[in-house]
Amino acid sequence: MYPYYLEAYTSGKLREVIEILNEQLSECRLCPRECGANRHEKAGICLQKAKPRLINYLLHFGEEPPLVYSEKKEKRGAGTVFFSGCSMKCIYCQNFGFSQLNNGRNFEIEELAEAFLELQEKGALNLDLVTPTSHLPFILEALSIAIEKGLRIPIVYNTSSYEKVEILKLLDGIIDIYLADIRYTDDEMGKKYSGVDNYWSTARKAILEMYRQVGPFKEEPFKRGLIIRHLVLPNDVSGSEKAFEFVSGISLSIPISLMSQYFPVYKALNDPVIGRKITKIEYETAIEFMEKYHLSNGWIQEFELD
Ligand code: SF4
Repeated sequence: MYPYYLEAYTSGKLREVIEILNEQLSECRLCPRECGANRHEKAGICLQKAKPRLINYLLHFGEEPPLVYSEKKEKRGAGTVFFSGCSMKCIYCQNFGFSQLNNGRNFEIEELAEAFLELQEKGALNLDLVTPTSHLPFILEALSIAIEKGLRIPIVYNTSSYEKVEILKLLDGIIDIYLADIRYTDDEMGKKYSGVDNYWSTARKAILEMYRQVGPFKEEPFKRGLIIRHLVLPNDVSGSEKAFEFVSGISLSIPISLMSQYFPVYKALNDPVIGRKITKIEYETAIEFMEKYHLSNGWIQEFELD
């Protein structure tokens, strides 16, 4: 069945997973922070309590082409939902207003389900859930309501890859598309620029699990699979060669979405290492690494000079 979640809904698996995830709210270990917050009483490190919170939901035309264009090449957009809060604390986050300052408003679950349906109604090709991890119990509850009311577009799980394998395993057969970042390939960089322990050791396992579930992204017969996003940071903080070497060791068919759009904001503005945009040479070097590892199945964002 397509999307996957229809089968999980019909078989009762979706309801079972919702129950497991709801238990997390009284002692949360949904993400690798495992902070143990009782979210009915107080927020965890991600700043989230026991309600979905989001800043906005809209048709988004800047995502990767197959997430924006239909099979008939109509530009319909991704149905992007920007959740508040994040378990990573990237000093350069372009969404810091809602990811780290927690701007947004609490939604009721039914309201979230209506938002999903509204995006479908407006023509969205998918539900592109940005930073969904700490909201998972609410997302799946809302999904269940929305399925009953006719939701049929697939989910894009849009993640930093800082995820626990055991939580991802619960999503097996529910998520069709994983849009997974490789932010760094060095745990020290993850600590320095995103404030998390073991980023790369954690993300590697998470990516392998996502791949196990859905394989490389393909458009036929359905849009399903794993896409890797890699934002090139100044001074090779993002460790591009190691990232591509790792992906090529899994499958050369995994599409890479290479991104040049970095610019310093928030706490990175005066950072001596990443307090500037990347250079053309840095970007071309990253492209050469992609070629070296024969990863040609993806998209390379244009490099724009100021
Ligand atoms: S999702 Fe939030 S509350 Fe749960 S473990 Fe992670 S940081 Fe803590």
